[in-house]
Amino acid sequence: MTERMLQFTHLPQETPKKRDVGERRTDFAEIYKKFDTTKAKAQSSRCSQCGIPFCSIHCPLSNDIPDWLKLTAEGRLEEAYEISAATNTFPEICGRICPQDRLCEGNCVIEKGFESVTIGAVERYITDTAFEQGWVKPIRAPVELPFSVGIVGAGPAGLAAAEALRGRGHQVTVYDRHDRVGGLLVYGIPGFKLEKEIVMRRWRWLEEGGIKFQMNADVGGALPFAELRARHDAVLIATGVYKPREIAGPGAGLPGIVKALDYLITSNRKGFGDAVPDFDSGLLNAAGKRVVVIGGGDTAMDCVRTAVRQGAKSVTCLYRRDRQNMPGSLREVSNAEDEGVVFTWLAAPEAFLGDNFVTGVRATRMHLGLPDASGRMSVDPIAGSSFTLEADLVIKALGFDPEDIPGAFGAPDLALTGWGTLKVNPRSFMTCLPGVFAAGDIVRGASLVVWAIRDGRDAAASIHNYLSEQTLAQAAD
Ligand SMILES: Cc1cc2nc3c(=O)[nH]c(=O)nc-3n(C[C@H](O)[C@H](O)[C@H](O)COP(=O)(O)OP(=O)(O)OC[C@H]3O[C@@H](n4cnc5c(N)ncnc54)[C@H](O)[C@@H]3O)c2cc1C
Ligand code: SF4
Repeated sequence: MTERMLQFTHLPQETPKKRDVGERRTDFAEIYKKFDTTKAKAQSSRCSQCGIPFCSIHCPLSNDIPDWLKLTAEGRLEEAYEISAATNTFPEICGRICPQDRLCEGNCVIEKGFESVTIGAVERYITDTAFEQGWVKPIRAPVELPFSVGIVGAGPAGLAAAEALRGRGHQVTVYDRHDRVGGLLVYGIPGFKLEKEIVMRRWRWLEEGGIKFQMNADVGGALPFAELRARHDAVLIATGVYKPREIAGPGAGLPGIVKALDYLITSNRKGFGDAVPDFDSGLLNAAGKRVVVIGGGDTAMDCVRTAVRQGAKSVTCLYRRDRQNMPGSLREVSNAEDEGVVFTWLAAPEAFLGDNFVTGVRATRMHLGLPDASGRMSVDPIAGSSFTLEADLVIKALGFDPEDIPGAFGAPDLALTGWGTLKVNPRSFMTCLPGVFAAGDIVRGASLVVWAIRDGRDAAASIHNYLSEQTLAQAAD
């Protein structure tokens, strides 16, 4: 069947069509359309089935990409789905929001000379089709085990762990301080990258599989961590990182300067039809405003594009490095540019202007210097290069650090790394507290959904081993 493959020599790369800019600027629906069957087959057939699949090696989940591309090219889609789902808990989500240019697709060998196989779009197509065709079955526990596991955090790390534990027969309860499941998938990442129904569909699927959810459960607040430990045989902390990095400087405390996640959560809640007073009052609504977003990561990209959709008068992204040195996905930068966002590279804020409310940002031009110890180029201000941007809304999107989990959980013995993330044994994912494990951003620092899924799956395997060993030890007593 290899004759069906290797079509890259004459078949050009095609990504799924994007919705027209004029249309997509006005709503929060996903911008990429789904491949149709003919396109998915044809694009899959471009794979060269190379001996060493660098795409799989650079996929954090080691997805068996060449195999599911071949099966898709052959029209054996249900088998492609089985193989894809064997290594990835949420393939349709990763297919949509992984930065493929840095992971699988960026390492596709036909990329050299020809453009890569559109792996993410095919991955999404396979599982979207599997849902439509009813191939996605509820999780089935082979046996019911007596162990109970409590998971704090319903983001991708917690959910991937919940699925893997339930699939082995454990009794799993997931706790989250939010009212909806998904973590940043639901309240961080906007609908134009990942429609909410995709996440809600997975919530229903996890519940049908027997996983229990306790929402509005603030662990360390109304629900003490000690009580959670007493309830369960093992606990997984998958709480993500939520402490926003701040900006100093004159005027930094002026009203109208807001935190990125407050802004994005508000917008996502409005998308669900929730009442959000800070949106209705205009505080967290960009409509009619001149918006300046500070930062160059995925969060900043999501803020600028949300502001466009809310009807901002103008949207400028201020970032101290240049396009090549920004942490956000280049695909999203070009989508943002198409949607009318202006990027002011190599510029950083010096001061915020205004008396009772922000009216502008005074910024200075920067230049890139020599790489520092971490390998990133230093950034230095250029003397006398100040300029002013008028603004009615300034959004700070400078990244996130971990919250004080030991303090919040009343568990001062919970060891931390130098970055304030939870310290775990890298093989077992166990913290220094017996039976308490951790995974996802709270261990890794702000990272990617695909890594959270990987960590959640690995932590689940380790929790399963730990509980099995406990049983053996008890039997031997
Ligand atoms: C705006 C934005 C855009 C992003 N875009 C992308 C992207 O396009 N692609 C990509 O791969 N990654 C992206 N990321 C990163 C990605 O979302 C994270 O790496 C990933 O969600 C981490 O998963 P997690 O499960 O560790 O944590 P989270 O998704 O943060 O989930 C943690 C959960 O724990 C809950 N929680 C926290 N504390 C408590 C407590 N005390 N009690 C109860 N519950 C608690 C939270 O409510 C949350 O639901 C983005 C991040 C942001 C902020
Ligand atoms: S999970 Fe992400 S990195 Fe892996 S194949 Fe899918 S899109 Fe690529």
